[in-house]
Amino acid sequence: MSTATLTIDLDALGQNWRALDAKSAAGVETAAVVKADGYGLGAARVARQLAAAGARRFFVAVAEEGAAVRQALGPGPEINVFSGHMAGDTEMIGDLELTPMVNSLEQLTRHMEALSGAPFGIQLDSGMNRLGMEPAEWAAVRDIALAQNPTLVMSHLACADEPDHAANAAQLAAFREMTDGIEAPRSLSATGGILLGPDYHFDVTRPGIGLYGGAPFDDAAPVAQISIPVVQVRNLAAGETVGYGCTWVAEKPSRIATLSAGYADGLIRAMSGRATFWHGDTPCPIAGRVSMDLLTVDITHLDEIPKTLDILGPHQTVDDLADAAGTIGYEILTSLGPRYSRRTKEGHL
Ligand SMILES: *Cc1c(COP(=O)(O)O)cnc(C)c1O
Repeated sequence: MSTATLTIDLDALGQNWRALDAKSAAGVETAAVVKADGYGLGAARVARQLAAAGARRFFVAVAEEGAAVRQALGPGPEINVFSGHMAGDTEMIGDLELTPMVNSLEQLTRHMEALSGAPFGIQLDSGMNRLGMEPAEWAAVRDIALAQNPTLVMSHLACADEPDHAANAAQLAAFREMTDGIEAPRSLSATGGILLGPDYHFDVTRPGIGLYGGAPFDDAAPVAQISIPVVQVRNLAAGETVGYGCTWVAEKPSRIATLSAGYADGLIRAMSGRATFWHGDTPCPIAGRVSMDLLTVDITHLDEIPKTLDILGPHQTVDDLADAAGTIGYEILTSLGPRYSRRTKEGHL
């Protein structure tokens, strides 16, 4: 087998959910965001594990993802859809008991006409200007909407990973202004907002990235580990080059390992010459450019030929790798792609 192995630590996932849950008061419900196939780790297994840890309310981006999570979890848990009630989604929402977070008057009307009495939530724009009803639109529909008992009234923070950013307090004030006094449960915070403290927690929190081991939840246990098989090793004389563009030049006699993964596996080309692999405790730099299915690593300093090298593991978190590639942990996880052998690890607690 020459595909890379992505190992998902389900205990760490459950532990991260409990740790984030413990950051808000007992009366605050901690949900779980499992969009984008559970941040690339597999929505079904991730959702089941989070349900076992105690999550009762899940969030996905689109109705199709909600259908997959419903299939994994069965009836009971609430599955909220951020994109709301889009045209064409009525049957899926109704049959699978998904809860759309409606984001406009148009969606509210569609939902009330097509699925009268079926649960829904409301999504408000408190300043991010991405998705949700703006204050004037909300003012116009608020009484009608609230009379239908929405399951949640939510908004989303633009800068929660920067605690000192002025937008946080401004969005908090805008959300309060739009929702103070209503009876429906309220939600403002994802991972970053949970860490901003109790003013931001309201009734329901919606952590995503922190569950999967990413910043800004610095205390997160790592969830994803990646090992990539070495498919060939060669010795180079000084002056020989490696890979497309001949960008890496051996300054001395060198040994290069060729690994079976590349940018099609989310190890993006921007990692070329910048990211580091690990053989146990020993770092091994990428040599030259990452190509689609292969990449090359300098192992001159190792005294054995490794079977595999790790790119996510104890020495390199998803955020370390993201920093090396000039991106964020979210993008690393959700780019990993279908080619990995995904394995789960649990039971070591
Ligand atoms: C993705 C998302 C979340 C989860 O955010 P994290 O930063 O991953 O915790 C919560 N709410 C909304 C609206 C989102 O789009």
